[in-house]
Amino acid sequence: MKLLRHPLSLSQIANYSFWFMLASSIFGGALLLALLFRHEHINDAHQVTKAAYESLFVLKYETERLLTTSELQSQKELLFEAARQFDSRFKPLTARPHPNIKEWSGFAHIITEEIQKIRIVLQAPLFDPRSMMEKSLLRRLGEGLVSEPHTENYVQIRDLTNAIAYLKQYEDFLLDELRALEQHEQNQHATQLEHIKFWLLVLILSAISTLIALAFSLSKGIKKIEINLLGTQEELRSALFELEQKQKKLEDQRNLLDHMAHHDALTGIPNRLLFLEKLRTLLEITRRTGEQLAVWFLDLDRFKEINDSFGHNIGDMVLQEVAHRLTDAAGNASVARLGGDEFALIVENIRDRTDAEAVITRFMSSLQHPLFVEHHEIYITCSAGASLFPQEAQSAEALLRNADSAMYHAKDEGKNTYAFYNQEMTRRAYERVTMESALRKALKNEEFVLHYQPQINMLTNKIVGFEALVRWQHSELGLVSPAKFIPIAEETGLIIDIGAWVLETACRTLMQWRSEGLEVGYMAVNISAKQLLHGQLEYAIPDFLKRIGYPKNALELELTESMIMRNPDYARKIFTRLRTEGIKIAIDDFGTGYSSLAYLKHLPIDTLKIDQSFVRPLPQSHSDGQIVRSIIHLCQGLGLGIIAEGVETEQQSHFLHQHGCTHAQGYLYAKPLDAAGAKSILSALKQ
Ligand code: C2E
Ligand code: MG
Ligand code: MG
Repeated sequence: MKLLRHPLSLSQIANYSFWFMLASSIFGGALLLALLFRHEHINDAHQVTKAAYESLFVLKYETERLLTTSELQSQKELLFEAARQFDSRFKPLTARPHPNIKEWSGFAHIITEEIQKIRIVLQAPLFDPRSMMEKSLLRRLGEGLVSEPHTENYVQIRDLTNAIAYLKQYEDFLLDELRALEQHEQNQHATQLEHIKFWLLVLILSAISTLIALAFSLSKGIKKIEINLLGTQEELRSALFELEQKQKKLEDQRNLLDHMAHHDALTGIPNRLLFLEKLRTLLEITRRTGEQLAVWFLDLDRFKEINDSFGHNIGDMVLQEVAHRLTDAAGNASVARLGGDEFALIVENIRDRTDAEAVITRFMSSLQHPLFVEHHEIYITCSAGASLFPQEAQSAEALLRNADSAMYHAKDEGKNTYAFYNQEMTRRAYERVTMESALRKALKNEEFVLHYQPQINMLTNKIVGFEALVRWQHSELGLVSPAKFIPIAEETGLIIDIGAWVLETACRTLMQWRSEGLEVGYMAVNISAKQLLHGQLEYAIPDFLKRIGYPKNALELELTESMIMRNPDYARKIFTRLRTEGIKIAIDDFGTGYSSLAYLKHLPIDTLKIDQSFVRPLPQSHSDGQIVRSIIHLCQGLGLGIIAEGVETEQQSHFLHQHGCTHAQGYLYAKPLDAAGAKSILSALKQ
């Protein structure tokens, strides 16, 4: 990240300014000192000159006074004192570096000489105190008599007067000098003042300009810092914003992931994970409050067939719609999709089973209305099982397991219903789980056997064919009914292998019987929904028959009505192909599904098998009689073969025959028999 960016840092500016100020101050100070020193020097010269002048003046004065005073002795002393003073004061003047030094020295010498002369004069008797009168006279004479007579005293007075005149001259000279010095001093003062003013001005200006430069640089620096700070602030703000955005995105992603981890991607409702979490929490709460709750396990009936016949896309849409209806029906109950076509519910705060039932019956009634998916009208049902807390289990897992067992019980009860858990169900559920692995082993160990049940022509009372019915020869359980294991084989997909085995065994048996000269018209083999959809029957069966050299028109495939009607177009395509290969098609358990007569008309089929549920109540049940008669008429109208299954009594046989049914199958004629039993019947008939 870019932070403060400016050419000169604040500390650098301060540093440079300090050094500049210091240099200016030193320079200015030195300059001022020099000026002051010079001023002192001039001042000193002036003082010395002044002192010299004063002492010369005093000397002259004291000398003059000699001529007028009566106190001659004391005046002499004063004069000598003045002369000494003059010496001492005049000396520094000559010692100074003055341009007129030589002149000064000359003056000093002359003055000293003059003083000496005065001293000599003063030794004269004239200046004796006793001749004061004379002296005063002489002075006057001296004043009056300038040239003659040249008396000794006169000469002395004249010399003295001359000396005084000399002194006066020098005094004047000194005075002039003093004035000149004063003038010079004044000029120097003025110049110095000018210089000082000038340098002070320069100093002030430089200080001001330095300050201005400093202030400017500072303000510029501050501005830059400000701009940089603003920029940095902006950058920080945008970085913060970006960070916030990223944080938000991450939060969203985390929420999404969390949602995805806890919700089913297809339906959007909670998944098994969230369901169990919620159930555990609710169990904790319910344990404390002492209330009850119910867990429902729901499984759609025959959903695999929907998937297989309509494709997975439609299957997915069906699941979505089911989830939607379940959520609507659930109200306050918690919904979840556990996987595949399995759903679950938690109904909290229930008083008894009735409260738990209310939710599931609401959902089941909502499924009574068809689902419209991509122009298809699909009917679907579900089976459900419930387990109650705290009566039946304590943990979430156990509750769900129990509800699952109860759901299987509901399936066993014929589907489209619900059941509440009891302990017996656990045993059954366990059986179911073990069944699958047992079935795999059974296939490997060839534990399956086929029984054959004759199909009779009611006119001739002769066996026209056999229906092959599979059984499981279990080492411990004995002969296990297909009703017990076929649904599991369907669910697990094992039915494909079992079905193939059945077809091959049945066909080979018929060929075997025929090869032994026994008359058997055809073999009927049951085909499951899974085989129809995944077995590629239209190719696999004809290929197989050709391979083993199976006789033409001696195979009939039985498919249940409901299985066909789930996807009649697909069924028609397959049946058409099979029939061109001489394979006959029979609709098994006819009347139990919801056949559309319009479809039936176009289906390439050969025979309808009236379901035993209509045959059993005959001839007493009027309604069943009516249904059976209608089916017979339908077959006659469509030119289809007809066979009634589950015929157990003569009355049933009579009724059927009387109303035009041509073929029958049931215990009345023969129960399903093992291969040996069936063969012996055939052999008996032959004789
Ligand atoms: P289904 O195809 O309708 O078979 C007729 C069932 O009715 C047979 O039961 C048969 O034993 C029974 N039955 C026949 N006559 C009478 C009678 O007079 N009274 C009574 N009460 N029952 C009679 P089974 O053998 O137990 O087979 C049950 C179902 O299992 C079959 O119904 C069929 O859907 C299925 N199944 C049997 N074998 C196979 C097979 O090899 N493959 C497939 N996919 N399903 C099979
Ligand atoms: Mg059958
Ligand atoms: Mg049947």
